[in-house]
Amino acid sequence: MKPFVYNSNPARIIFGTGTINHLPDEVKRLGIHRPLVLSTPEQSSHAAQIESLLKADGIEVAGQFNKATMHTPLDVTLEAMKFVTELNVDGLVAVGGGSTIGLGKAIALRTDLPQIVLPTTYAGSEMTPIIGQTENGVKTTQVTAKVLPEVVIYDVDFTYSLPVGLSATSGINAIAHSIEGLYAQNGNPVISLMAEEGIRALAKALPIIVENPIDKEARSDALYGAWLCGTVLGLVGMSVHHKLCHVLGGTFNLPHAETHTIVLPHALSYNAPNIPDVMKRIANALGQEDAIEGLNILLTKLKVKRALKDFGMEETGIDKAADLAVKNPYWNPRPLDRNGLREVIRRAWAGEPAM
Ligand code: NAD
Repeated sequence: MKPFVYNSNPARIIFGTGTINHLPDEVKRLGIHRPLVLSTPEQSSHAAQIESLLKADGIEVAGQFNKATMHTPLDVTLEAMKFVTELNVDGLVAVGGGSTIGLGKAIALRTDLPQIVLPTTYAGSEMTPIIGQTENGVKTTQVTAKVLPEVVIYDVDFTYSLPVGLSATSGINAIAHSIEGLYAQNGNPVISLMAEEGIRALAKALPIIVENPIDKEARSDALYGAWLCGTVLGLVGMSVHHKLCHVLGGTFNLPHAETHTIVLPHALSYNAPNIPDVMKRIANALGQEDAIEGLNILLTKLKVKRALKDFGMEETGIDKAADLAVKNPYWNPRPLDRNGLREVIRRAWAGEPAM
């Protein structure tokens, strides 16, 4: 076995169905007296449910802030910060996906307030020390333990309402974390176990969810897989797939989970010649002979869109993205080659199957 370093992030995880009922005790355990509940406008009913639960337990909720927005725009964070100061907030409860969790992290970055997070997608932000923020259309990313939530409550009940299309793409977003975790330069055997199990759980659950979004076991398996994949994302470095998605999302304003879904088989195919053992592990986790074919089969079952052009990216963007993808070099199992990456982006743009 190769030598390795294993780090873990401090977090308390509560997983199950109906686990929301642990929230009042967790708020008290952290010594929070005036929590602010965060959500998007679309999930204000989830925020209201949480506020009622806390109030029923005698906790004085400072208020709700329901304006979380994708990519954590600075103006929204500053507006939320006004609430935090004016309402004497001493802790945060975020209910939602990466957008809401991002807002909680942005507030924690500025205040060090404790955070309790109830994730409702499979994106995994709750498990990472990563915060992306957008100012004047430019997204910058920082890594700091300050933004890690103290407590994560995974409650399967909050995921039944995640629309089928987003369930599928968010699940593939999670699988992408584990795939890149399996070949991370700073990977280790424990992370690889988590990654393989995360892929296996999601690959089994997602096709069932697409047919029946309220299947209890599949929703539970998917959330479990998302936790594992998020843990992988939080602990080891990502490579060309995540870099490409960051470039494409940021430059062409493409949706996060859908972009990951389209790019993943192509990015993996680019790395495949340099990672034969990992390809076998991925295939095994997908329950197929071949990893790329396994991903193609899974994406077909999930009925997801396969072309970036379907999301409004122009053909002229292919060269721009290829230039940006090699601009700031980073570690990848296969050296970065502009022509090879241009072909990855072109195929993803056109929606051709990965080979
Ligand atoms: P999202 O949080 O933007 O959610 C998409 C929409 O679905 C929102 O309207 C949301 O309210 C709604 N929604 C979420 N869960 C729902 C549910 N259970 N029922 C009904 N509606 C629900 O989507 P996302 O993909 O989770 O997050 C994307 C954002 O997170 C991006 O900005 C991305 O960069 C960021 N992200 C950050 C990290 C990190 O480590 N920092 C990791 C992953 C994603």
